[in-house]
Amino acid sequence: MRLISLQKKIGNGTLEISGCPLKCRYCGHASLPRVDSSYEKTLAFLSDIQLKKVYIGGAEPMSQKKEIIDLIKMLKWRGKEITLKTTGADPKALKETVGFVSRYIIEIKGPLDDVALYQRLTQLNEEETKAYLSSLKESLEILKGQKVRIFLRIIPGYVTEEGIDRLGQQLQGYADQVNLVQFMSTRYDLPFDGISFPSPDIYTMTHYGEVLLKHIPYIHIQGNGLDSVLKA
Ligand code: SF4
Repeated sequence: MRLISLQKKIGNGTLEISGCPLKCRYCGHASLPRVDSSYEKTLAFLSDIQLKKVYIGGAEPMSQKKEIIDLIKMLKWRGKEITLKTTGADPKALKETVGFVSRYIIEIKGPLDDVALYQRLTQLNEEETKAYLSSLKESLEILKGQKVRIFLRIIPGYVTEEGIDRLGQQLQGYADQVNLVQFMSTRYDLPFDGISFPSPDIYTMTHYGEVLLKHIPYIHIQGNGLDSVLKA
C-alpha cells in the first residue's frame, strides 16, 4: 500500500493514504513523501489493542479501495471505531463500508451543481467534473442516515456567501456536521492563485458558519487562531 503516514497517538490510530483522483491545484498531499507498507503490516499496526479509534483519510483512501475496504471490515471486527474521510468519488466502494464506519467525513469544495468551480479548483476536465459530481451526489444518497461531516475548505474568491447558502440547502438531511476550514491554515494547503497566508479573515469565516447553521445543526470553524463551534 502507498501511504502518506501510519501513526499511533494515545488511543487513536491514523492512516493517511496516498493518491487522489481530483488532483486539486492547491493540494499539498501530492508533495508529501510516500511510505510503502504491506496490507498485513498496516492491519497489524492498527489492530493494536491500545487503539480504540482509527482515522482513515489521506488524500483519498478509496484510491486503494481493495485493501481499504478489507482493512475497514477487519478493524471493525476487532472492535475499532472507524472514521473515514473521502471525496465521495467512488459510491460503490463507499457502499461496502456502510455498517463498518462510525463517522464519514466528505471533502466538498462548494455547491454540488457548480461544475465551473470544481473545474477551477481541481485538474478534472468538464466531463470528468460532471462525472465526479454525479458520484458525489450518489455517495451522499448512500450515506443518508449515517453520521456525515462535511469538510469544506474556504478559499477566498472561490467559495462565496451565496455558494455556502446553496450548499447548505443541498446538504440538508445528508450531513449532521460541517467542518469549515480556513484556506492555508493547515500544512496540507499550498499557495494558490496568489493566496499564500491564512484567509479569509475570522469575521468572514464566522459569518459563513452562521449562514450554514441555517441548514446544518453543528458547524466547527477552524483556522489560524480560530477554533469555534456553532450549534443550532
Ligand atoms: S485537496 Fe483533497 S480532494 Fe483535492 S486532491 Fe487533495 S486530497 Fe484530493
